[in-house]
Amino acid sequence: MAALRLLADSYFDGCALHPAKDGPHLISVEDGRIAAIDRRATEAPFDQRVAFVMPGLVEAHAHLFLDGGELDFDKRNAYLDAPKDEMLRVARENIARNAAAGVTLVRDAGDRYGVNDAIRAEQRGGRVAVRSPGLGVKRPKRYGGFMARDIEAGGDVAPVVADMAATADDIKIILTGIIDFAAGEVKGAPQFNEEELRAIVTTAHAYGKRTFAHCSGLEGLKVAVAAGVDSIEHGFFMTPDILDVMADKRIAWVPTVSPVHFQWARPELAGWDANTIGNLRRILDGHAEHIGLAHRKGVELVAGSDAGSPGVVHGAALVDEIFHFVDAGVPMAAALEAATTRPRRLWNVASTAIAAGERGDLICFDASPFDAPDVLRKGARLV
Ligand SMILES: [Zn+2]
Repeated sequence: MAALRLLADSYFDGCALHPAKDGPHLISVEDGRIAAIDRRATEAPFDQRVAFVMPGLVEAHAHLFLDGGELDFDKRNAYLDAPKDEMLRVARENIARNAAAGVTLVRDAGDRYGVNDAIRAEQRGGRVAVRSPGLGVKRPKRYGGFMARDIEAGGDVAPVVADMAATADDIKIILTGIIDFAAGEVKGAPQFNEEELRAIVTTAHAYGKRTFAHCSGLEGLKVAVAAGVDSIEHGFFMTPDILDVMADKRIAWVPTVSPVHFQWARPELAGWDANTIGNLRRILDGHAEHIGLAHRKGVELVAGSDAGSPGVVHGAALVDEIFHFVDAGVPMAAALEAATTRPRRLWNVASTAIAAGERGDLICFDASPFDAPDVLRKGARLV
């Protein structure tokens, strides 16, 4: 993007909509930076005329080595023994799917094979950037073996976190198990107690790294907010009280609606009975209620899909997640902010807000999602 003059009917700057009534807007980009933005540029020469421009989308929670479109459970299990080259091929396809949806930054949420680190290196300087935690941490014999290494109970966390911090962009912690859909709850105590988790968080911070914790269920949520993790991933069985603490401590929430929504939408694949389908619906309704409440309470909501999970396809699922936010009562501008400028601010990476002097990381759609939301599903063009 050496020099480019984009004439847009309307644009979203990462926070607010600049509507067509003030347009057309001439966005001039020079050497990768936005040089100027002129309103009502009716007479100005331009290179490209587009309907709608916004900053590239950010996917805050994905597993790049997993193909979310693979729905056969036996094949998914067998894949965990596939050679690394095969996993790299899948990850490259997932990068392409993200690019097609307009995603220009993906935060991987862990894999035990190092595919995330390899893809991050491969994509450096490319159009889709990758953040990688490498491996997360978990307790021996507890959930998360495909994405985390073990910390023994009573063991010193400092050397483990120091080792991770040498290569990780963020420190991933597996704090709880996953939801038992048939039981409609999260089973088992949190993997780390408050003191142990605080030690991990404090050590990570000492190395300048932020923490993100896989966490669902009230017991785990209480530990996560008390220990001061930087981001709660999933966060099913959220409560208003926990949201208050999150707003207060500026703890981000990545609610990853998509994987549970898929289980509800396609119950026959896992063979869920009527009771379990009812549980799934109840969990989704509770989640939506708390996402809306989180927005109103000023919690740092961030969009991430858990792409790679069954039925959660990279790229498309991040767009689904934006719609889950909107369906939960989050206004379109706030939902798009949660999928663009907010995660970049929280992660302390270069801003891509559309303003003079900022880095130009622009994507275009054929219509404004504020008028025609479905345009987001049709794919973006990366400038
Ligand atoms: Zn995940």
